[in-house]
Amino acid sequence: MTNTIIECSNISFTYEQSTVLDSISLKVNEGEFWALIGPNGSGKSTLIKIILGLLQPDQGRVTLYGEDAASFRQREKIGYVSQKSNSFNAGFPATVLEVVKSGLTRKVGLFKNFTKADEKQALEALKIVKMDAYAASNIGELSGGQQQRVFIARALVGNPELLIMDEPTVGIDQKNVASFYSMLNDLNREHGIAILLVTHEIDLVTELASHVACLNRTIHFHGPQAAYQQMDNREISNWYGHPVRRVHSSKKEA
Ligand code: ADP
Repeated sequence: MTNTIIECSNISFTYEQSTVLDSISLKVNEGEFWALIGPNGSGKSTLIKIILGLLQPDQGRVTLYGEDAASFRQREKIGYVSQKSNSFNAGFPATVLEVVKSGLTRKVGLFKNFTKADEKQALEALKIVKMDAYAASNIGELSGGQQQRVFIARALVGNPELLIMDEPTVGIDQKNVASFYSMLNDLNREHGIAILLVTHEIDLVTELASHVACLNRTIHFHGPQAAYQQMDNREISNWYGHPVRRVHSSKKEA
């Protein structure tokens, strides 16, 4: 039987006067890789905040492993990498290993003395994202893409079953985006970690994801990747709100 991790049922949310999410229903199951795509301002970050229990929906319900998101306590099961995590400047006084170990404080408290076992766990997480060679480097000396991998390792160190990422390729050189996505693919396929990746990109990531959800205030499509690939550029432009073209997908022409 497939276990459901996230279930959003009929979520609506309004900031002051404007409704940014309208009747959103979405289910993320164990082992799935979801790309949540939509233009800027389409409500993606708001939906993630609701899923993480940081905002309360005006209507509807979100459950994590069957429990209400706002009262869910097993936080270590869900790793989160926020939008602006990969922007440390050169002088920031922390090594890569220290940044990754700080991911353990969620479980054991802020003033923990780290043990050898913690260090080993942090190195394992760095290995998964292929950054173990940089363990002793200063975080601020790494490129945006390398920092992002370190923050993924930080999210992985507590052995989560789901990783949520908000626009993880912002600040990564275009030439490194494909290898970043391929690393996520390994995380999903080889390590069995479910992924919910939020992006305004419409093509590259959707080739890797097992499922795609198209959000612009409402969910315009959600389902397996193969069904998303059947949409042509005109259909995608319609829900996206302005003309867009896919470069990588098999079905490109409107
Ligand atoms: P996305 O992540 O897709 O770019 P957001 O969820 O950040 O979209 O924002 C959706 C809409 O809500 C946007 O129009 C944005 O301006 C508005 N918004 C976001 N945060 C706030 C806030 N704290 N107060 C008022 N409006 C907000």
